[in-house]
Amino acid sequence: MFGKILLAYDGSETAKNALEQAMEMKILLPDSILEIVHVAQLNNIVVGDAFITSSAAVQDELHDAAEAVLDEARQRIAYLGLATTTLLEGGAPAQMILDYAEANLFDLIIVGSRGLGTFKELLLGSVSYEIVQHAQIPVLVVK
Ligand code: ATP
Ligand code: MG
Repeated sequence: MFGKILLAYDGSETAKNALEQAMEMKILLPDSILEIVHVAQLNNIVVGDAFITSSAAVQDELHDAAEAVLDEARQRIAYLGLATTTLLEGGAPAQMILDYAEANLFDLIIVGSRGLGTFKELLLGSVSYEIVQHAQIPVLVVK
């Protein structure tokens, strides 16, 4: 059960709660693999048929910021075995996380209910909503 656990991490307070929950689960299931993914959005814009990429300098900054987010998580899990971090670069986080979970045969996705967004009226953010809605495997949503 839950041999491969995928944690979607954006560095938010709620994602940190999700990380703590994932670590507790990992300790209870010592043979399980925990992988933490962060999706860096490279700010490419599609306007009609045009695909506008951001400059190399902007992309470098986004990459560094994303690495810093993952570094925090990496330090937190340093003492655990079978726990890794992965940076995914590209587009919409939810779809990338769903595709990654499917391609790599994960059994469980853990997400925070909300993330870094500022509009907090709804229980779920757009990323957690889309993951719960479309995942083919169980999803644990941590508040
Ligand atoms: P919105 O982004 O819709 O304004 P929000 O930021 O409050 O709202 P979400 O982005 O849906 O909420 O974040 C919910 C959870 O989804 C986060 O706690 C995290 O687990 C995951 N998540 C969000 N963005 C990313 C990302 N770029 N990479 C990995 N996981 C993410
Ligand atoms: Mg968000």
